Amino acid sequence: ESQRNVNAKIVLLPGDGIGPEVTEEGRKILVEVAEKFGHKFEFESHPIGGNAIDDFGDPLPEATLNACRNADGILLGAVGGPKWDDPTAKTRPEAGLLKIRKELGLFANLRPITTHEFLLDSSPLRREIVEGTDIFFVRELTGGIYFGDSNLEQNADGSETATSTMVYSTHEIERVVRVAAKAAQGRSGHLTSVDKANVLEASRLWRKVAERVVREEFPDLKYDVVLVDAMAMHLISRPSTFDVVVTGNMFGDILTDEGSMLPGSMGLLPSASLGSDGPGLYEPIHGSAPDIAGLGIANPLATILAAAMLLRHSLNLDDEAKAIEAAVDAVLSAGHRTKDLAKDGEVSLGTIEMGQKVIEAL
Ligand code: ATP
Ligand code: MG
Repeated sequence: ESQRNVNAKIVLLPGDGIGPEVTEEGRKILVEVAEKFGHKFEFESHPIGGNAIDDFGDPLPEATLNACRNADGILLGAVGGPKWDDPTAKTRPEAGLLKIRKELGLFANLRPITTHEFLLDSSPLRREIVEGTDIFFVRELTGGIYFGDSNLEQNADGSETATSTMVYSTHEIERVVRVAAKAAQGRSGHLTSVDKANVLEASRLWRKVAERVVREEFPDLKYDVVLVDAMAMHLISRPSTFDVVVTGNMFGDILTDEGSMLPGSMGLLPSASLGSDGPGLYEPIHGSAPDIAGLGIANPLATILAAAMLLRHSLNLDDEAKAIEAAVDAVLSAGHRTKDLAKDGEVSLGTIEMGQKVIEAL
């Protein structure tokens, strides 16, 4: 148990669909942790996404953004849904998320991919391949080809030419590699950097800077580099051999989606987005699941695990984070399932019941 007592302001952004239902279970587990470990967490809830468009005409109202700026950590549910899917609409729920990332300078996206014993039979891969997989992806989030110059030209013959530029500079690479290297120090001490340095200039700089940062600042890490095409293969042939994997925006986008299939369910995966200072943003990787919104059957575990990440990465409360993760493990090991995890005929728990099981296990 940690010796310090922490005061923290946590902003909740429940969002749309099942967002409010799962965020509430995340809040409850944080309240429980505060009580058990002697911390004082203050909560504030603010609108984001589709509901904010309905009420304020803006997916990220100014008051929400200001509250986030003053927070120690932000717990988000999910945004979006069919109600706001009109492609001709002035603004969309997802614009709120993009804006908050940009405004808070959240350049590192953390995505742990952990497998649970009981799910291995639902994995698309054979059990002996996926068993023991525990990868921690760190994806650069605010640079690279998604943010470089982008252009569509009309050619004289009536055809078109499109350009997307991959841009990375020293500073952008250094800071995200440091986040990944620090994460590796707190885990198995193995860091893998993924690039395409045999073809792309931006990747050659990535490789050079990453190697220097690790050599100078983190010499104790086991460090290797892998080309992204090889990584796509390794991820399904030997996923359990990786620890922390750091990569650029587009490669990370693709590899984390590939990786999210390994555990056999996306319903348990959290993610975090961090900046250099200021609060981090924590959320489940699943969406707003409009098909089950309001039914009380959504799986809250990804959000509860996102709350654990908030404690670890924004409040430096590692014991508390581990306690939540152990509680989730215990609940799953005891056979408790929400509908998305239950096999045919198995009894399933609702969102609130599952949250309560975790609190009891904690
Ligand atoms: P988005 O575009 O926001 O990612 P999506 O429709 O692509 O949304 P999800 O909202 O994640 O993806 O939903 C995909 C499927 O997974 C749906 O059938 C949904 O009901 C289910 N699902 C997603 N999250 C959960 C959850 N926490 N508990 C139970 N089922 C879920
Ligand atoms: Mg989607």
